[in-house]
Amino acid sequence: MERPIEIAVVSGKGGTGKTVLASSLARLSESRVVADCDVDGPNMHLLANPTVLEEGALAGHRIAILDAGACTRCGECAKACRFGAVRERDVPEGWLYSIDLLSCEGCAACTMVCPADALHLTDSSSAAWYVSDSSVGPLIHPALAAGQKNASEMVRVLRREARRTAARGGLRYVIIDGPAGIGATAIASVIGTALAVLVAEPTISGIYDLGRMVDLLERLGIKAVGVVNKSDLNPEIASDIAGYLSRKWIPLLGSIPYSDRVNEAISAGKFVVDVAGDDPAVEEIKKVVARILEAATGEARGAAGA
Ligand code: SF4
Ligand code: SF4
Repeated sequence: MERPIEIAVVSGKGGTGKTVLASSLARLSESRVVADCDVDGPNMHLLANPTVLEEGALAGHRIAILDAGACTRCGECAKACRFGAVRERDVPEGWLYSIDLLSCEGCAACTMVCPADALHLTDSSSAAWYVSDSSVGPLIHPALAAGQKNASEMVRVLRREARRTAARGGLRYVIIDGPAGIGATAIASVIGTALAVLVAEPTISGIYDLGRMVDLLERLGIKAVGVVNKSDLNPEIASDIAGYLSRKWIPLLGSIPYSDRVNEAISAGKFVVDVAGDDPAVEEIKKVVARILEAATGEARGAAGA
């Protein structure tokens, strides 16, 4: 069985139109599995109407749960917690203790000191992942959980499940919607892929963010292509981006003009290619998607022949 061709859509920061391109690639490509690896803000499930078929959770990811009804507010847990995860929270009746799930490390110290048996550990639902059937075919996606722990491990698991699903179904592509930025989750999303698609916007900071992402991909040895979104909002900077990519030998696969209809479609939770079909931006997106698939297939062939 051939390995599926993995394509990651990434950007140096959020708000560049990565979701527009990744969701269009997911919608228009065939024989694919989609992995939503944007673990800080997964949103493919909002568009793709998934039906969960399988689910799993990262092993060993535990958090404390506090039963406010049993708590006597003695404060022993707050003293015992080295991570500042026990917080005082204002409620209409006064205040109570609660656990900040993003700070809790699951060390269990609080559960051992609580005289009221009001604390226990549980598996964190934030570490759950799903294999779903959806309008973009098989969709591998994480539970909603901004800032969850083990985020790069979650990306690794999502990609593993996507590859497995592709292998089971004999599917050709794994489309990865990567996170914005150049952190650990971005690295986990692109490493080992056939192609990274860089989405940039024509702003001064957009060039800077693009440069950081290009540096990262060069260090990792990942082939890249570029796409400029909302290119007509600042043609001069869009041209600078094209020049920069050319100097880096990164093919520019398209320049997508600004479109209100694209924004409206995304805000309404729809795939732009479904609802804004005759829009110039969508016409360009369709061409870009075809070029991405062609480029990724060429890279995979080249790697196989190398
Ligand atoms: S499990 Fe550990 S980190 Fe979490 S609230 Fe309790 S003491 Fe703090
Ligand atoms: S140790 Fe137990 S009873 Fe005391 S404040 Fe914490 S949860 Fe409440």
